Amino acid sequence: MNPINSRREVLISLTSVAAMLAGAAARAADKAGPLPRLKPTEPLAMALSYFEDAGKVDAKKFPTYKPGQLCSNCLQLTGKAGDEWRPCNLFPGKLVHANGWCKVYVKKP
Ligand code: SF4
Repeated sequence: MNPINSRREVLISLTSVAAMLAGAAARAADKAGPLPRLKPTEPLAMALSYFEDAGKVDAKKFPTYKPGQLCSNCLQLTGKAGDEWRPCNLFPGKLVHANGWCKVYVKKP
């Protein structure tokens, strides 16, 4: 067999395997479904004073809170802009509300 043809066949096979693995990973992610939503009553949420609705933050109790601070404009929020519930680096494996807030809020630059 010609070594160039052989290498080409190996590359084609590897590409096909990679595409199959990517498809399987995507299907597994679909089956797993979305991450669960963080409940404000969970221990880490309570430790960081997480609110699902920043409008309910008591500014006297949390003097670092300023109106307009929302998870949606926090540096720690990831995921897709515009989604109501998104992942946060501080709460791995959970989703926080875009209109939420917690005491480690950092404005996104
Ligand atoms: S770190 Fe930011 S995005 Fe995460 S819960 Fe706190 S305010 Fe929201």
